[in-house]
Amino acid sequence: MHSCRACGAAVGDLVLDLGEQPPCDLFPPAGDPGPDPLFPLRMWLCGRCSLAQLVEDPGTAEEPAGVEPRALTDQAADAVRVLTEAGLVRPGATVAEYGSPHGGSWLPLLRAAGLREAGPGEQADLVLDCFGLMHEPAQDKAMAERAGRLAPGGALLVQFHSLASILAQRQWNALRHGHFAYYSTPAMRTLAEPAGLTAGRSWSFPLYGGTVLLELRAGGAPAPETEELVRAELAAGVADAETVAGLGRAAAEGAARLRRELVARAEAGKHVLGYGAASRAVALLTRAGIDSGLLPAIVDISAAKHGRRMPATEIPITGPAALESDLPDVVLLFVPDLLAEVRAAFPALDERDAEWLLG
Ligand SMILES: [Zn+2]
Repeated sequence: MHSCRACGAAVGDLVLDLGEQPPCDLFPPAGDPGPDPLFPLRMWLCGRCSLAQLVEDPGTAEEPAGVEPRALTDQAADAVRVLTEAGLVRPGATVAEYGSPHGGSWLPLLRAAGLREAGPGEQADLVLDCFGLMHEPAQDKAMAERAGRLAPGGALLVQFHSLASILAQRQWNALRHGHFAYYSTPAMRTLAEPAGLTAGRSWSFPLYGGTVLLELRAGGAPAPETEELVRAELAAGVADAETVAGLGRAAAEGAARLRRELVARAEAGKHVLGYGAASRAVALLTRAGIDSGLLPAIVDISAAKHGRRMPATEIPITGPAALESDLPDVVLLFVPDLLAEVRAAFPALDERDAEWLLG
């Protein structure tokens, strides 16, 4: 019996079950024949506070430090700009950041804007959580810890990949070990209440197909755009188990489609390469039953992953030289956000008229 990572309720629904999956941040050396460990990968929607969450977690090691996609750094600059206009980012204020293990710190931008980083445990005017909170198994404790860092009158800013956009874009492979929560704006608002924080203003960004930055503060009052966002997300079904369970149907369809596409390219004798050995590729490859026969290699610019392979498959991870020495007919891109960036970095692919498949 699962109990909610936020409110403790034991009433809820399993909404997505991806079966047995390897830890998606395990990239074994290419010579390691396996078998790799497998763990259930399931999403549960709390019947009380509506937080979508990971049921099990194998608690394995961090993935090798990746290279920050430009989409992430561009968005950080956009966010700091809107927060400056909103008066939240101002010279002389103090900031404490709860970061993500995947990188993407806003501190360099905030220092440049004249903010000072609070010392360990010191309270801050601005407490920033940019994709950090999702990595916390105990959501209620993690929220209380962040609230406790706020100086009087301070604001907690949480940025999260919105469950509403996960549903709208059927991004079932957002579910992964190590990511304990998948927030809607209503669920984030409810999570903040026991910590004494109220949702105020909010901003939306196109990152990952829909990312929300929400202001939380003691004695805050919801801004009209936040009320509207909550209404729209509830109307889209973020708190409705039947709607969220559509992700399970999307998973089956997405895996079947990818397999059909790769089988067709293989039958046509096309040379296919993957791009982006991202965590989100792992469940897709496993669900689709794709091995090195259909996808001979995946290119990744992170040197830490070279000489390794995707978990639970034999597919090796290789450096970008493969895109120049051995030009593919087809590139299967596992991180669609990177499309413009990859095309710009490897113009030979477009010159060759390479086909782009989005995983
Ligand atoms: Zn709950």
